[in-house]
Amino acid sequence: MKIKQWVSSLPDYIPGRTIEEIKKEFGLETVYKMASNENLFGPHPLVIEEVKKYLGSINYYPDSSCWDIRQKISQVYDVPAETVIIGNGTDQIIEMACESFLGPDENVVIADPTFIIYEKAALKCRGRAIKVPLTDYRHDTVKMIGAVNDKTRILFLTNPHNPAGTNINKDEFEYIKKNLRKDILLVADEAYYEYIPEGDRLNTEGMVAENNNLLILRTFSKIFGLAGLRIGYGIADKAIIAAFNKVRLPFNINSIAQRAAVAALENRSYAEEISKKINREKEKFYDALERNNIGFIRSWSNFILIRTGENELNIVEELLKKGFIVRAGKNLGMPGNIRVTIALPAANDKFLSTFIEIFNNNR
Ligand code: PMP
Repeated sequence: MKIKQWVSSLPDYIPGRTIEEIKKEFGLETVYKMASNENLFGPHPLVIEEVKKYLGSINYYPDSSCWDIRQKISQVYDVPAETVIIGNGTDQIIEMACESFLGPDENVVIADPTFIIYEKAALKCRGRAIKVPLTDYRHDTVKMIGAVNDKTRILFLTNPHNPAGTNINKDEFEYIKKNLRKDILLVADEAYYEYIPEGDRLNTEGMVAENNNLLILRTFSKIFGLAGLRIGYGIADKAIIAAFNKVRLPFNINSIAQRAAVAALENRSYAEEISKKINREKEKFYDALERNNIGFIRSWSNFILIRTGENELNIVEELLKKGFIVRAGKNLGMPGNIRVTIALPAANDKFLSTFIEIFNNNR
């Protein structure tokens, strides 16, 4: 068999380990997955009710146009429905963007490190990524604009950044918007948007009408607790959305995910409750880490990057043995750190006492 050489050379995505794997490997009864930034409180109970109600209809194909959920997003965020695209996770919209904008030998500008899918989607289009190192764990907006060249087709921003958790403030975002050529797609990936304290949110959805090169990405995977159903959305000028509708598969969103997402938005005050709870829990992390002289990066998201130094992999392994799955920074382009998802209060308390003991033994 002759698999295309460039396909074989694509990077692999290394997912977080699963709870079942770790239970088996270490003979544990309880394992806490604090590795993939899921909402560990789960979705709103009425969303689960809605999912159960629609199980009887799964013999039908889903609505290809995702009409109901696009209408709902249109109402909630006050944007026209024809400016909304739904993806099988925002991952898929990142692919649609590259398929629509990027060709061989063209490039996307991204931070380094950043969410791995931007580069992977670019490589699949035979393009490449120009990588601009973070400065102090933040996007370096000036250097990113400086890296753009005449073959650049997309610039990706992640706000808040993953894995650092840092935000992009209004001035930084305005700088990019003002200085980026208008024929280049500006993607604001806001997967963790709802975790940003209200005063720091940029209201990017309100900017789409006046910026026809802006694409906003948000998801139901994170604060709405629907990662397993795979549904996210994009908002952009209707010409961009029309292109995405041409490249996407016709039934890319299953019917259960569509119903669940509508119910999640009908009960969206839940997201604000979760955001407040997680932000309170995060303070607990900051307190405990500061008291123990352990470095960390202040986060605008539901995860926190903790500075472990060179014993990172030992620490990750020892945490696994105690039933805590976290991500090693090494696998995320940030060696010397671990990324920990903020979990339920009792798990956070257990994690902190276990981690601090392990950290102190590895100093
Ligand atoms: N963007 C960022 C920055 C992410 O961290 C993630 C999830 N890991 C995604 C996009 C993709 O989210 P989903 O495909 O589940 O919507």
